[in-house]
Amino acid sequence: MNKVEILVLGGGESGVGAALLAKKLNKQVFVSDSKALKPVYAKELQQAGIPFEEGQHTEDLFFGVECVVKSPGIPSHIPLIGRLKEQGAEVISEIEFASRYTKGKIVGITGSNGKTTTTLLTHHIFKKAGWDVGLAGNVGTSFARLLAEGDHDWWILEISSFQLDDTIHFQPDIAILTNITPDHLDRYEYKMENYMSSKFRITLFQSEESKFIYCADDEWTLKGLKSQAPKAQLIPFTLNSSLAGEVGAFYQQGHIQIEFNKGESMSIYELALQGKHNTYNSMASALAARAAGIHSEAIRDALADFEHIEHRLETVTQIAGVEYINDSKATNVNSTWYALESITRKVIWIVGGVDKGNDYSQLLPLVKDKVKAIVCLGLDNQKIINEFKNDVEILTEAQSMEAAVRTAHSLAKKGDLVLLSPACASFDLFENYEDRGNQFKECVRKL
Ligand code: ADP
Repeated sequence: MNKVEILVLGGGESGVGAALLAKKLNKQVFVSDSKALKPVYAKELQQAGIPFEEGQHTEDLFFGVECVVKSPGIPSHIPLIGRLKEQGAEVISEIEFASRYTKGKIVGITGSNGKTTTTLLTHHIFKKAGWDVGLAGNVGTSFARLLAEGDHDWWILEISSFQLDDTIHFQPDIAILTNITPDHLDRYEYKMENYMSSKFRITLFQSEESKFIYCADDEWTLKGLKSQAPKAQLIPFTLNSSLAGEVGAFYQQGHIQIEFNKGESMSIYELALQGKHNTYNSMASALAARAAGIHSEAIRDALADFEHIEHRLETVTQIAGVEYINDSKATNVNSTWYALESITRKVIWIVGGVDKGNDYSQLLPLVKDKVKAIVCLGLDNQKIINEFKNDVEILTEAQSMEAAVRTAHSLAKKGDLVLLSPACASFDLFENYEDRGNQFKECVRKL
Protein backbone atom coordinates (compact mmCIF):
# COMPACT_ATOMS: atom_id res chain seq x y z
CA MET A 1 0.00 0.00 0.00
CA ASN A 2 1.27 3.51 -0.84
CA LYS A 3 1.77 6.01 1.95
CA VAL A 4 -1.60 6.92 3.42
CA GLU A 5 -2.47 10.59 2.84
CA ILE A 6 -5.84 10.58 4.53
CA LEU A 7 -6.79 8.31 7.37
CA VAL A 8 -10.49 7.93 8.07
CA LEU A 9 -11.25 6.76 11.58
CA GLY A 10 -14.63 5.06 11.81
CA GLY A 11 -16.41 3.37 8.93
CA GLY A 12 -20.00 4.52 9.36
CA GLU A 13 -21.98 6.92 7.17
CA SER A 14 -19.69 9.90 7.62
CA GLY A 15 -16.46 7.85 7.50
CA VAL A 16 -17.38 6.02 4.33
CA GLY A 17 -18.60 9.29 2.80
CA ALA A 18 -15.25 10.94 3.62
CA ALA A 19 -13.36 7.98 2.15
CA LEU A 20 -15.37 8.13 -1.08
CA LEU A 21 -14.69 11.85 -1.40
CA ALA A 22 -10.97 11.36 -0.71
CA LYS A 23 -10.84 8.67 -3.38
CA LYS A 24 -12.60 10.98 -5.83
CA LEU A 25 -9.91 13.57 -5.08
CA ASN A 26 -7.26 10.95 -5.94
CA LYS A 27 -5.89 10.81 -2.40
CA GLN A 28 -4.41 7.69 -0.86
CA VAL A 29 -7.07 6.96 1.72
CA PHE A 30 -7.34 4.26 4.38
CA VAL A 31 -10.29 3.49 6.68
CA SER A 32 -9.69 2.04 10.13
CA ASP A 33 -12.43 1.04 12.56
CA SER A 34 -11.96 -0.64 15.95
CA LYS A 35 -15.27 -2.45 15.47
CA ALA A 36 -16.67 -4.50 12.61
CA LEU A 37 -18.07 -2.46 9.73
CA LYS A 38 -21.67 -2.85 8.68
CA PRO A 39 -21.59 -5.21 5.66
CA VAL A 40 -23.13 -2.57 3.41
CA TYR A 41 -20.27 -0.16 4.16
CA ALA A 42 -17.56 -2.82 3.86
CA LYS A 43 -18.93 -3.75 0.46
CA GLU A 44 -19.03 -0.16 -0.65
CA LEU A 45 -15.38 0.38 0.28
CA GLN A 46 -14.36 -2.81 -1.50
CA GLN A 47 -16.23 -1.80 -4.62
CA ALA A 48 -14.57 1.61 -4.60
CA GLY A 49 -11.15 0.00 -4.14
CA ILE A 50 -10.56 1.72 -0.80
CA PRO A 51 -8.38 -0.26 1.64
CA PHE A 52 -9.69 -0.64 5.18
CA GLU A 53 -9.32 -2.62 8.39
CA GLU A 54 -11.94 -3.49 11.00
CA GLY A 55 -11.77 -4.70 14.59
CA GLN A 56 -8.45 -2.92 15.15
CA HIS A 57 -6.24 0.08 14.45
CA THR A 58 -2.85 -0.98 13.02
CA GLU A 59 -0.86 2.17 13.58
CA ASP A 60 2.11 1.06 11.48
CA LEU A 61 -0.14 1.18 8.43
CA PHE A 62 -0.75 4.89 8.75
CA PHE A 63 2.23 6.19 10.69
CA GLY A 64 3.04 9.81 9.77
CA VAL A 65 -0.32 10.51 8.11
CA GLU A 66 -1.04 14.22 7.73
CA CYS A 67 -4.80 14.34 7.73
CA VAL A 68 -7.17 12.31 9.89
CA VAL A 69 -10.92 12.46 9.38
CA LYS A 70 -12.47 11.36 12.64
CA SER A 71 -16.06 10.13 12.85
CA PRO A 72 -18.23 11.95 15.37
CA GLY A 73 -18.74 8.85 17.50
CA ILE A 74 -15.04 8.58 18.40
CA PRO A 75 -14.12 10.66 21.47
CA SER A 76 -11.21 13.09 21.01
CA HIS A 77 -9.42 12.02 24.18
CA ILE A 78 -8.56 8.42 23.19
CA PRO A 79 -4.80 7.68 23.16
CA LEU A 80 -4.73 6.93 19.42
CA ILE A 81 -5.88 10.47 18.60
CA GLY A 82 -3.23 11.86 20.97
CA ARG A 83 -0.48 9.87 19.21
CA LEU A 84 -1.66 10.91 15.75
CA LYS A 85 -1.63 14.56 16.80
CA GLU A 86 1.85 14.18 18.31
CA GLN A 87 3.06 12.96 14.92
CA GLY A 88 1.72 16.19 13.44
CA ALA A 89 -1.57 14.96 12.02
CA GLU A 90 -4.46 17.37 11.57
CA VAL A 91 -7.58 15.75 13.05
CA ILE A 92 -10.82 17.01 11.52
CA SER A 93 -14.46 16.06 11.13
CA GLU A 94 -16.07 14.87 7.94
CA ILE A 95 -18.02 18.14 7.67
CA GLU A 96 -14.78 20.13 7.89
CA PHE A 97 -13.13 17.85 5.33
CA ALA A 98 -15.95 18.08 2.80
CA SER A 99 -16.42 21.83 3.25
CA ARG A 100 -12.90 22.37 1.89
CA TYR A 101 -13.89 20.91 -1.47
CA THR A 102 -17.22 22.56 -2.23
CA LYS A 103 -17.56 25.67 -4.36
CA GLY A 104 -21.10 26.06 -3.06
CA LYS A 105 -22.32 28.14 -0.17
CA ILE A 106 -23.37 26.56 3.09
CA VAL A 107 -26.26 26.96 5.50
CA GLY A 108 -25.15 25.10 8.66
CA ILE A 109 -27.84 24.26 11.19
CA THR A 110 -27.20 23.19 14.76
CA GLY A 111 -28.96 23.36 18.15
CA SER A 112 -30.31 21.05 20.83
CA ASN A 113 -33.76 20.65 19.27
CA GLY A 114 -35.30 21.45 15.93
CA LYS A 115 -32.24 20.79 13.76
CA THR A 116 -33.85 18.26 11.44
CA THR A 117 -37.10 20.18 11.12
CA THR A 118 -35.31 23.46 10.40
CA THR A 119 -32.92 21.75 7.97
CA LEU A 120 -35.73 20.12 5.99
CA LEU A 121 -37.78 23.29 6.04
CA THR A 122 -34.87 25.41 4.80
CA HIS A 123 -34.10 22.90 2.06
CA HIS A 124 -37.75 22.90 1.06
CA ILE A 125 -37.75 26.69 0.65
CA PHE A 126 -34.59 26.64 -1.51
CA LYS A 127 -36.09 23.89 -3.67
CA LYS A 128 -39.39 25.71 -3.99
CA ALA A 129 -37.50 28.76 -5.20
CA GLY A 130 -35.90 26.59 -7.89
CA TRP A 131 -32.36 26.84 -6.54
CA ASP A 132 -29.64 24.22 -6.99
CA VAL A 133 -29.38 22.88 -3.44
CA GLY A 134 -28.13 19.78 -1.62
CA LEU A 135 -29.34 18.40 1.72
CA ALA A 136 -26.83 16.55 3.91
CA GLY A 137 -25.37 15.86 7.33
CA ASN A 138 -27.07 14.43 10.37
CA VAL A 139 -30.40 14.49 8.58
CA GLY A 140 -29.40 11.42 6.55
CA THR A 141 -26.63 11.19 4.00
CA SER A 142 -23.17 12.52 4.78
CA PHE A 143 -22.02 15.75 3.18
CA ALA A 144 -18.81 14.16 1.88
CA ARG A 145 -20.65 11.31 0.17
CA LEU A 146 -23.06 13.64 -1.62
CA LEU A 147 -20.29 16.04 -2.56
CA ALA A 148 -18.37 13.14 -4.12
CA GLU A 149 -21.44 12.61 -6.32
CA GLY A 150 -21.62 16.26 -7.36
CA ASP A 151 -21.49 19.81 -6.05
CA HIS A 152 -24.39 22.25 -5.61
CA ASP A 153 -24.67 26.05 -5.47
CA TRP A 154 -25.98 25.73 -1.92
CA TRP A 155 -25.76 23.06 0.75
CA ILE A 156 -28.16 22.84 3.69
CA LEU A 157 -26.36 20.88 6.41
CA GLU A 158 -27.67 19.56 9.70
CA ILE A 159 -24.76 19.49 12.11
CA SER A 160 -24.64 17.88 15.57
CA SER A 161 -22.40 19.25 18.30
CA PHE A 162 -20.21 16.13 17.98
CA GLN A 163 -19.60 17.05 14.36
CA LEU A 164 -18.76 20.60 15.35
CA ASP A 165 -16.23 19.48 17.93
CA ASP A 166 -13.67 18.66 15.25
CA THR A 167 -14.11 21.61 12.96
CA ILE A 168 -11.07 23.86 12.72
CA HIS A 169 -11.92 26.28 9.91
CA PHE A 170 -15.50 25.39 9.02
CA GLN A 171 -17.32 28.61 8.19
CA PRO A 172 -20.90 28.37 7.01
CA ASP A 173 -22.05 31.40 5.03
CA ILE A 174 -25.24 31.25 7.05
CA ALA A 175 -25.39 29.56 10.45
CA ILE A 176 -28.53 28.76 12.39
CA LEU A 177 -28.44 27.91 16.09
CA THR A 178 -31.97 26.82 16.98
CA ASN A 179 -31.53 26.74 20.78
CA ILE A 180 -29.32 25.36 23.57
CA THR A 181 -30.98 23.21 26.21
CA PRO A 182 -29.48 20.36 28.25
CA ASP A 183 -28.75 17.26 26.14
CA HIS A 184 -25.75 14.95 25.71
CA LEU A 185 -24.20 16.52 28.79
CA ASP A 186 -22.35 13.25 29.49
CA ARG A 187 -20.07 14.18 26.55
CA TYR A 188 -19.34 17.61 28.04
CA GLU A 189 -18.33 16.81 31.63
CA TYR A 190 -21.91 17.67 32.66
CA LYS A 191 -21.15 21.35 32.14
CA MET A 192 -23.61 23.46 30.15
CA GLU A 193 -20.79 25.95 29.45
CA ASN A 194 -18.87 23.26 27.54
CA TYR A 195 -21.93 22.19 25.59
CA MET A 196 -22.74 25.82 24.80
CA SER A 197 -19.19 26.51 23.55
CA SER A 198 -19.41 23.43 21.36
CA LYS A 199 -22.63 24.73 19.76
CA PHE A 200 -21.05 28.16 19.23
CA ARG A 201 -18.24 26.58 17.22
CA ILE A 202 -20.61 26.99 14.30
CA THR A 203 -19.84 30.73 14.47
CA LEU A 204 -16.17 30.49 15.41
CA PHE A 205 -14.65 30.84 11.94
CA GLN A 206 -17.41 32.86 10.32
CA SER A 207 -16.36 36.15 8.73
CA GLU A 208 -17.99 39.57 9.02
CA GLU A 209 -19.90 38.85 5.80
CA SER A 210 -21.45 35.65 7.19
CA LYS A 211 -24.80 35.57 8.95
CA PHE A 212 -25.62 34.08 12.34
CA ILE A 213 -29.31 33.37 12.94
CA TYR A 214 -30.23 32.66 16.56
CA CYS A 215 -33.12 32.55 19.02
CA ALA A 216 -33.24 35.71 21.10
CA ASP A 217 -35.57 34.01 23.62
CA ASP A 218 -33.02 31.32 24.51
CA GLU A 219 -31.11 31.87 27.73
CA TRP A 220 -27.97 29.88 26.86
CA THR A 221 -27.75 31.34 23.38
CA LEU A 222 -27.78 34.84 24.86
CA LYS A 223 -25.05 33.83 27.33
CA GLY A 224 -23.03 32.42 24.45
CA LEU A 225 -23.40 35.59 22.42
CA LYS A 226 -21.79 37.53 25.26
CA SER A 227 -18.94 35.13 25.97
CA GLN A 228 -18.20 33.98 22.40
CA ALA A 229 -18.82 37.29 20.58
CA PRO A 230 -19.32 35.95 17.03
CA LYS A 231 -17.96 38.09 14.16
CA ALA A 232 -20.85 37.30 11.81
CA GLN A 233 -23.83 39.59 11.26
CA LEU A 234 -26.36 38.77 13.96
CA ILE A 235 -29.93 37.98 12.93
CA PRO A 236 -32.24 37.15 15.87
CA PHE A 237 -35.69 35.60 15.95
CA THR A 238 -38.13 35.86 18.84
CA LEU A 239 -41.74 35.16 19.74
CA ASN A 240 -42.33 38.57 21.23
CA SER A 241 -42.46 41.82 19.35
CA SER A 242 -39.44 43.48 20.91
CA LEU A 243 -37.55 43.42 17.62
CA ALA A 244 -40.06 45.53 15.74
CA GLY A 245 -38.23 47.72 13.26
CA GLU A 246 -34.92 45.85 13.57
CA VAL A 247 -33.34 43.12 11.47
CA GLY A 248 -34.70 39.69 12.40
CA ALA A 249 -37.99 37.85 12.81
CA PHE A 250 -40.64 38.41 15.43
CA TYR A 251 -44.21 37.40 16.15
CA GLN A 252 -47.07 39.84 16.03
CA GLN A 253 -50.83 39.39 16.11
CA GLY A 254 -50.84 35.88 14.69
CA HIS A 255 -48.20 36.29 12.05
CA ILE A 256 -44.45 36.23 11.59
CA GLN A 257 -42.86 39.50 10.63
CA ILE A 258 -39.46 39.43 8.95
CA GLU A 259 -37.40 42.60 8.75
CA PHE A 260 -34.41 42.50 6.53
CA ASN A 261 -32.51 45.32 4.89
CA LYS A 262 -33.77 48.78 5.70
CA GLY A 263 -37.35 49.10 4.54
CA GLU A 264 -37.49 45.50 3.33
CA SER A 265 -39.95 43.39 5.28
CA MET A 266 -42.38 40.54 4.81
CA SER A 267 -45.26 38.98 6.75
CA ILE A 268 -46.05 35.27 6.93
CA TYR A 269 -49.54 34.23 8.02
CA GLU A 270 -49.82 30.58 7.12
CA LEU A 271 -47.54 27.92 8.59
CA ALA A 272 -47.84 24.23 7.77
CA LEU A 273 -46.07 23.25 11.01
CA GLN A 274 -47.96 24.04 14.19
CA GLY A 275 -46.77 24.70 17.75
CA LYS A 276 -44.53 27.36 19.24
CA HIS A 277 -41.38 25.39 18.54
CA ASN A 278 -42.27 25.17 14.88
CA THR A 279 -42.91 28.89 14.71
CA TYR A 280 -39.30 29.28 15.86
CA ASN A 281 -38.13 26.77 13.26
CA SER A 282 -40.13 28.49 10.53
CA MET A 283 -38.67 31.87 11.50
CA ALA A 284 -35.12 30.53 11.40
CA SER A 285 -35.64 28.92 7.98
CA ALA A 286 -37.30 32.00 6.55
CA LEU A 287 -34.44 34.20 7.76
CA ALA A 288 -31.84 31.87 6.23
CA ALA A 289 -33.69 31.90 2.92
CA ARG A 290 -34.01 35.67 3.02
CA ALA A 291 -30.32 36.03 3.88
CA ALA A 292 -29.49 33.89 0.85
CA GLY A 293 -31.61 36.17 -1.33
CA ILE A 294 -34.70 34.04 -1.92
CA HIS A 295 -37.79 36.08 -2.70
CA SER A 296 -40.68 36.40 -0.27
CA GLU A 297 -43.21 34.52 -2.35
CA ALA A 298 -41.25 31.26 -2.44
CA ILE A 299 -40.63 31.50 1.30
CA ARG A 300 -44.32 32.04 2.05
CA ASP A 301 -45.44 29.22 -0.25
CA ALA A 302 -42.87 26.79 1.10
CA LEU A 303 -43.69 27.44 4.75
CA ALA A 304 -47.37 26.92 4.00
CA ASP A 305 -47.12 23.64 2.07
CA PHE A 306 -44.34 21.83 3.94
CA GLU A 307 -45.30 18.24 4.73
CA HIS A 308 -45.08 16.81 8.20
CA ILE A 309 -41.96 14.91 9.27
CA GLU A 310 -42.09 11.40 10.65
CA HIS A 311 -41.72 10.90 14.44
CA ARG A 312 -42.03 14.62 15.23
CA LEU A 313 -45.51 15.42 16.48
CA GLU A 314 -46.74 13.19 13.69
CA THR A 315 -50.47 12.53 13.65
CA VAL A 316 -50.96 8.77 13.29
CA THR A 317 -54.72 8.44 13.22
CA GLN A 318 -57.98 9.14 15.01
CA ILE A 319 -59.87 6.21 16.59
CA ALA A 320 -63.30 6.74 18.16
CA GLY A 321 -62.59 10.42 18.61
CA VAL A 322 -59.15 9.83 20.17
CA GLU A 323 -56.17 11.28 18.36
CA TYR A 324 -52.83 9.41 18.38
CA ILE A 325 -49.60 11.39 18.02
CA ASN A 326 -46.11 10.00 17.52
CA ASP A 327 -43.39 12.28 18.90
CA SER A 328 -40.81 9.52 19.36
CA LYS A 329 -38.02 11.92 18.35
CA ALA A 330 -38.61 13.82 21.61
CA THR A 331 -35.57 12.38 23.38
CA ASN A 332 -35.17 15.18 25.92
CA VAL A 333 -37.37 17.17 28.30
CA ASN A 334 -37.35 20.35 26.26
CA SER A 335 -38.82 18.79 23.14
CA THR A 336 -41.53 17.09 25.19
CA TRP A 337 -42.29 20.47 26.79
CA TYR A 338 -43.06 21.88 23.34
CA ALA A 339 -45.18 18.86 22.46
CA LEU A 340 -47.33 19.20 25.59
CA GLU A 341 -47.45 22.96 25.16
CA SER A 342 -48.86 22.69 21.64
CA ILE A 343 -51.70 20.31 22.58
CA THR A 344 -55.14 21.58 23.56
CA ARG A 345 -56.86 18.27 24.38
CA LYS A 346 -56.59 16.09 27.50
CA VAL A 347 -53.54 13.86 27.14
CA ILE A 348 -52.71 10.25 27.88
CA TRP A 349 -48.95 10.57 27.88
CA ILE A 350 -46.57 7.69 27.07
CA VAL A 351 -43.18 8.65 28.48
CA GLY A 352 -39.88 7.06 29.53
CA GLY A 353 -36.81 5.21 28.30
CA VAL A 354 -33.15 5.91 28.97
CA ASP A 355 -32.90 9.01 31.15
CA LYS A 356 -30.00 11.32 30.21
CA GLY A 357 -30.06 13.19 33.52
CA ASN A 358 -33.53 14.64 32.99
CA ASP A 359 -35.10 17.31 35.16
CA TYR A 360 -38.81 16.57 34.77
CA SER A 361 -39.93 19.34 37.10
CA GLN A 362 -40.10 21.81 34.18
CA LEU A 363 -42.97 19.76 32.81
CA LEU A 364 -45.07 19.87 35.99
CA PRO A 365 -47.27 22.89 35.15
CA LEU A 366 -48.12 21.47 31.71
CA VAL A 367 -48.69 17.99 33.10
CA LYS A 368 -51.01 19.28 35.84
CA ASP A 369 -52.95 21.24 33.27
CA LYS A 370 -53.23 18.76 30.41
CA VAL A 371 -52.26 15.19 31.34
CA LYS A 372 -54.95 12.91 32.72
CA ALA A 373 -52.92 9.69 32.69
CA ILE A 374 -49.28 8.69 32.36
CA VAL A 375 -48.09 5.39 30.93
CA CYS A 376 -44.40 4.88 31.75
CA LEU A 377 -42.62 2.93 29.05
CA GLY A 378 -39.12 2.01 30.16
CA LEU A 379 -37.11 -0.46 32.16
CA ASP A 380 -36.62 1.97 35.03
CA ASN A 381 -39.52 4.38 35.56
CA GLN A 382 -38.95 5.34 39.19
CA LYS A 383 -37.83 8.91 38.56
CA ILE A 384 -40.91 9.67 36.46
CA ILE A 385 -43.20 8.04 39.00
CA ASN A 386 -41.68 10.08 41.85
CA GLU A 387 -41.99 13.31 39.92
CA PHE A 388 -45.62 13.01 38.88
CA LYS A 389 -47.37 10.59 41.25
CA ASN A 390 -49.06 13.34 43.25
CA ASP A 391 -50.22 15.34 40.27
CA VAL A 392 -51.72 12.86 37.85
CA GLU A 393 -54.77 10.74 38.58
CA ILE A 394 -53.59 7.60 36.83
CA LEU A 395 -49.99 6.47 36.52
CA THR A 396 -49.15 3.02 35.20
CA GLU A 397 -46.16 1.14 33.77
CA ALA A 398 -45.67 -0.89 30.60
CA GLN A 399 -42.69 -2.85 29.36
CA SER A 400 -43.57 -3.08 25.70
CA MET A 401 -45.04 -0.71 23.13
CA GLU A 402 -47.97 -3.00 22.60
CA ALA A 403 -48.86 -2.95 26.30
CA ALA A 404 -48.37 0.83 26.48
CA VAL A 405 -50.64 1.50 23.52
CA ARG A 406 -53.34 -0.88 24.79
CA THR A 407 -53.29 0.74 28.22
CA ALA A 408 -53.42 4.23 26.74
CA HIS A 409 -56.28 3.18 24.49
CA SER A 410 -58.26 1.80 27.43
CA LEU A 411 -57.77 5.02 29.40
CA ALA A 412 -58.69 7.42 26.59
CA LYS A 413 -62.17 8.88 26.12
CA LYS A 414 -63.62 10.59 23.06
CA GLY A 415 -61.87 13.95 22.58
CA ASP A 416 -58.65 12.85 24.33
CA LEU A 417 -55.24 12.55 22.74
CA VAL A 418 -52.65 9.78 23.17
CA LEU A 419 -49.17 11.22 22.93
CA LEU A 420 -45.92 9.26 22.66
CA SER A 421 -43.34 11.86 23.66
CA PRO A 422 -40.77 9.96 25.73
CA ALA A 423 -38.35 12.77 26.81
CA CYS A 424 -35.78 9.96 26.91
CA ALA A 425 -33.54 7.97 24.61
CA SER A 426 -34.93 4.70 23.33
CA PHE A 427 -32.11 2.19 23.73
CA ASP A 428 -33.53 0.19 26.67
CA LEU A 429 -36.43 -1.32 24.73
CA PHE A 430 -35.89 -0.23 21.12
CA GLU A 431 -33.17 -0.02 18.50
CA ASN A 432 -33.55 3.72 18.08
CA TYR A 433 -36.22 6.42 18.07
CA GLU A 434 -37.39 5.41 14.59
CA ASP A 435 -37.98 1.84 15.74
CA ARG A 436 -39.86 3.16 18.79
CA GLY A 437 -42.03 5.45 16.63
CA ASN A 438 -42.70 2.75 14.05
CA GLN A 439 -43.73 0.25 16.73
CA PHE A 440 -46.06 2.87 18.20
CA LYS A 441 -47.71 3.47 14.83
CA GLU A 442 -48.01 -0.24 14.14
CA CYS A 443 -49.61 -0.93 17.54
CA VAL A 444 -52.02 2.00 17.13
CA ARG A 445 -53.08 0.78 13.69
CA LYS A 446 -53.74 -2.68 15.12
CA LEU A 447 -56.15 -1.36 17.76
P1 ADP B 1 -33.24 17.52 16.22
O1 ADP B 1 -32.84 17.18 14.84
O2 ADP B 1 -32.48 18.71 16.76
O3 ADP B 1 -33.27 16.38 17.17
P2 ADP B 1 -36.03 17.55 15.36
O4 ADP B 1 -36.46 18.57 14.37
O5 ADP B 1 -35.79 16.17 14.90
O6 ADP B 1 -34.73 18.11 16.13
O7 ADP B 1 -37.09 17.53 16.56
C1 ADP B 1 -36.82 16.76 17.73
C2 ADP B 1 -37.91 16.92 18.76
O8 ADP B 1 -37.90 18.26 19.26
C3 ADP B 1 -39.32 16.68 18.25
O9 ADP B 1 -40.03 16.07 19.31
C4 ADP B 1 -39.85 18.05 17.94
O10 ADP B 1 -41.25 18.12 18.06
C5 ADP B 1 -39.13 18.93 18.98
N1 ADP B 1 -38.74 20.24 18.46
C6 ADP B 1 -38.63 20.61 17.15
N2 ADP B 1 -38.22 21.89 17.06
C7 ADP B 1 -38.04 22.34 18.32
C8 ADP B 1 -37.61 23.59 18.87
N3 ADP B 1 -37.29 24.64 18.10
N4 ADP B 1 -37.53 23.68 20.21
C9 ADP B 1 -37.85 22.63 21.00
N5 ADP B 1 -38.28 21.44 20.55
C10 ADP B 1 -38.36 21.28 19.21
